[in-house]
Amino acid sequence: MIEIKDLVKNFPGRRVIDGISAEIRDGELFSVIGPSGTGKSTFIKCLIRLLRPESGQIIVDGQDIASTSSEFTLAKVRRSFGYLFQEGALFDSLTVLENVAFGLKYLTDIPKSDYPRIVREKLALVGLKDVEHLKPAELSVGMKKRVSLARSIAAEPKYMLYDEPTTGLDPVTTGMVKELIIDMRSKLNITSIVVTHDLNLALEISSRVAMLYGGKFVEVGEPAQFRQSENHEVKEFMEISHLSRK
Ligand code: ADP
Ligand code: MG
Repeated sequence: MIEIKDLVKNFPGRRVIDGISAEIRDGELFSVIGPSGTGKSTFIKCLIRLLRPESGQIIVDGQDIASTSSEFTLAKVRRSFGYLFQEGALFDSLTVLENVAFGLKYLTDIPKSDYPRIVREKLALVGLKDVEHLKPAELSVGMKKRVSLARSIAAEPKYMLYDEPTTGLDPVTTGMVKELIIDMRSKLNITSIVVTHDLNLALEISSRVAMLYGGKFVEVGEPAQFRQSENHEVKEFMEISHLSRK
C-alpha cells in the first residue's frame, strides 16, 4: 500500500503539489487526471523520489521515502516499482532481448543464463513472440510499447506507474495499451497508478480516479461516483473531454 500524506512540491516560484493525501491500496488501478501542466508527472516522480518533495510523507509498504536520505531504503523501495514513461524510449542499439533484460542486471540477482527465458515470458505476457533478436527500428509503434512494458515488468514490480501511456498514439494502439494496462493488473496483480489527461481512459480502466487541480486532489472516487461529481473543475473537465471525443 502507498500512503501519501500532505505532500508538497515546489518549483522555483511555484507550488505544484499543494498538500495531497491519498491511499493507494494493493491491487488498485488508481488514475490521476487533470489538464496539461497541473503537476501529474511531478506527482508520479515524487512517488519514486526522482523529485524530492518539500514536505509530507510517501509511505510505501511501511517505509517513508519522502525525505529519507538512505540510499539503501530508496533503492529497496524503487525496486518495487516499474514505470512506463511517455519518453521511456528503448535503446536503439540494443536488441529486444537486451532491452527487456536491461533492468534485470541492476535490479535482481538473477543469473544471466536465465535472462532469455524470463524475457520470453515477459514478451509473451504483452503478446509478443519471436522478436528477441530484432532492434527497435524494426518494430511498429505498438510493438515498441509492448516491449517497453515487458522491460518495465521484467523485474516483477509490485507497483506500475504509467505516465500518459496513450498520449500521441493512434486509436488502435491506444486501445491496445489500455488492454495491456488492464491485463498487467489482472494477470500479475500489479497495483497500478496511471497519470493521464485522458479522462475517458481513466474512467474506463480505473478502480478509482483522482482529479489533480490547483495542486490538490479536488475529487477522488470510483468512476461511477466520479461521473456524478458536483465539483466545478471536474464538471468542466468532463465537458471538455466529452466534446473532444466527438
Ligand atoms: P503535467 O504532467 O500535469 O502536464 P508537470 O508535472 O509536468 O505537469 O508540470 C507541472 C508544472 O511544473 C508545470 O508548470 C511545469 O512547467 C512545472 N515544472 C515541471 N518540471 C519542472 C522542473 N523540473 N523545474 C521547474 N518547473 C517544472
Ligand atoms: Mg506530464
